[in-house]
Amino acid sequence: MTVPSSLDTPSNNSHVNVDLNELENFNRLSSTWWDKEGEFGALHKINPYRVAFIEQFTPLKGQRIVDIGCGGGILSESLAKKEAEVTGIDLAKEVLTVAKLHGLDSGVKVDYQLISAEDYAQQHPEQHDIVTCMEMLEHVPDPQSIIQAAADCVKPGGWVFFSTLNRNYKSYLLAIIAAEHILNLVPKGTHTHEKFITPAEMDAMARPAELYLRDSAGIEFNPLLNQYGLSDNVDVNYLLAYQKGL
Ligand code: SAH
Repeated sequence: MTVPSSLDTPSNNSHVNVDLNELENFNRLSSTWWDKEGEFGALHKINPYRVAFIEQFTPLKGQRIVDIGCGGGILSESLAKKEAEVTGIDLAKEVLTVAKLHGLDSGVKVDYQLISAEDYAQQHPEQHDIVTCMEMLEHVPDPQSIIQAAADCVKPGGWVFFSTLNRNYKSYLLAIIAAEHILNLVPKGTHTHEKFITPAEMDAMARPAELYLRDSAGIEFNPLLNQYGLSDNVDVNYLLAYQKGL
């Protein structure tokens, strides 16, 4: 497949598992990435819970991590602050620029690279202790290919953490109608319900990659308290902890 000219990626990019409209949306909003009350406010609010979820399974200090679809670096930076050695990869160029500039400001060291997950995995097979891929799979044409790439990056016995949105009536009402159109928690048009992924579908894609599910958690929003928290309810936004087979 030819790389579309509007996609400014390295020339050796052999996999083009990307939706250009998605990248355009993220690039367009990139300057607001670190505004905690802005378009990506929800990512800022859920971030501490994601880190807490990860830390239940593995320490972070000294661990080599790749954060796939890192965006402006909200998760990447918080992992690096815990003294992990973090690489953040994404295909939205302007978003990565925001991530790099923010890193200069904050002094938190993350190695940001404009590269597809598939190409990165080919170049760094089994070189990471931990892979994170949060709120990204529902934005790509072929999530299985990303899951396989995540599995390829991690060492045997290492951890892979995903988060995405479940697909059912409740997630349509809460993640699209309420979050995008009523409460303005997420920019309108961010999500397409058909691209949401059920936990069973996730597991069906993870198994062939030799990723074994260790735990799951829901990330729930309480509109009355205007607060997020972890729960057992995976109906809408959820986290999965996988371990690669030894
Ligand atoms: N993981 C970050 C950002 C989530 S937003 C966080 O949770 O804080 C989704 C990100 O996925 C955006 O930065 C977008 O540019 C990126 N993305 C979308 N399609 C991609 C693809 N095919 N390859 C790499 N990154 C992609």
